[in-house]
Amino acid sequence: MTFFTHLECTRTGERYDVDGLHNLSATGAPLFARYDLDNLSASFSRDDLAGRAANMWRYREVMPLRDGDHEITLEEGFTPLRAAPRLGSWAGFSRLLVKDESVNPTGSFKARGLSVAVNRARELGAPGVQLPSAGNAALALATYAAAAGLPCRVALPSDTPRTIFERCGDLGAEVLSVEGTLVEAGHLLAECDDGYWMLSTLKEPYRVEGKKTMGLELVEQLDWELPDWILYPTGGGTGIIGMHKAFDELETLGLISGRRPRFGVVQMAGCAPIVRAYEAGSAAATPWEAPQTRVWGLRVPQAVGDFLILDAVRSTGGRAVAVEEDRVAGMIARASRLEGLDIGPEGAATLLALEDLHRDGFIEVGQRVVVFQTGHPANYR
Ligand SMILES: *Cc1c(COP(=O)(O)O)cnc(C)c1O
Repeated sequence: MTFFTHLECTRTGERYDVDGLHNLSATGAPLFARYDLDNLSASFSRDDLAGRAANMWRYREVMPLRDGDHEITLEEGFTPLRAAPRLGSWAGFSRLLVKDESVNPTGSFKARGLSVAVNRARELGAPGVQLPSAGNAALALATYAAAAGLPCRVALPSDTPRTIFERCGDLGAEVLSVEGTLVEAGHLLAECDDGYWMLSTLKEPYRVEGKKTMGLELVEQLDWELPDWILYPTGGGTGIIGMHKAFDELETLGLISGRRPRFGVVQMAGCAPIVRAYEAGSAAATPWEAPQTRVWGLRVPQAVGDFLILDAVRSTGGRAVAVEEDRVAGMIARASRLEGLDIGPEGAATLLALEDLHRDGFIEVGQRVVVFQTGHPANYR
């Protein structure tokens, strides 16, 4: 069922076997899952998807699970792509689409990646799983670990909203509170020596495969056409990196062709390491010293996949933009008033970036734009 063959270092191309609990490559770069796309293209056509379940496992040929019929699933993925004409015309557009990820299990798209990673942990016999998180990743990990019957540990910055601590505890996870940022939370977990597999963003190869399905869905939902722009609230960047990988795979399979969507990376002015590197013309980002934002999903001072995000933005002719914190509440209210949408602050940041990119002439009227609404606001209430 799957055409998964091996893992590959994103920096050197060095190959790794599929059987280990891998983290970063020997050179400290993320690993990517690779598939036998030549053989798959010989046997696959678009029509093969008809009638499959409306969740992300419909793309199982390019998913890394070997025991394909026995995965733990809470029906993640295949989220709606909604037209938002009233918000669109307010921002100056005719063709605005919102990919609503808040309807995923656990209220965010973190469910996609952690579903894949926890299923792999189970297949590979990991004794437990752990990660540092700004909130939503912890919630998703604790949920899927519970469903899989795997021990789980999460580390959260101490000022993360209490609801996240409580819900992770209710799900049976061991919950650590850390003074500092995600970086310090990661250090604390690295000191635990009981062999729990570390699933922090892009430090293992499988979460990005789950996020990749957002790109596969967009193409299928747009009837095998590509949008002109994809605006994405970027923390660790798995979504951008995953969708870029998805489009590469679809192109190799001969299922799409032509101009690729431009990626718009959206960050907050108080924590914008990728935007800073983009503006400086650098291939990699330096850590943001003291992140200041209450848009929790974007409070990520350092991304191990920085060079992959920057490459995806530049190679598609996209942009990286930062938006100001004090505009977020107004945009949440506007989305509510104009479209009846209950969006989170990350989704609002993305709409603010749309407003700015349009004002500055980068996005034109008539272009088809997809904005990601990534998390349910109730998660942080
Ligand atoms: C994690 C998160 C993000 C950032 O996603 P990445 O793919 O890691 O860049 C954005 N929004 C929400 C709600 C999140 O939980």
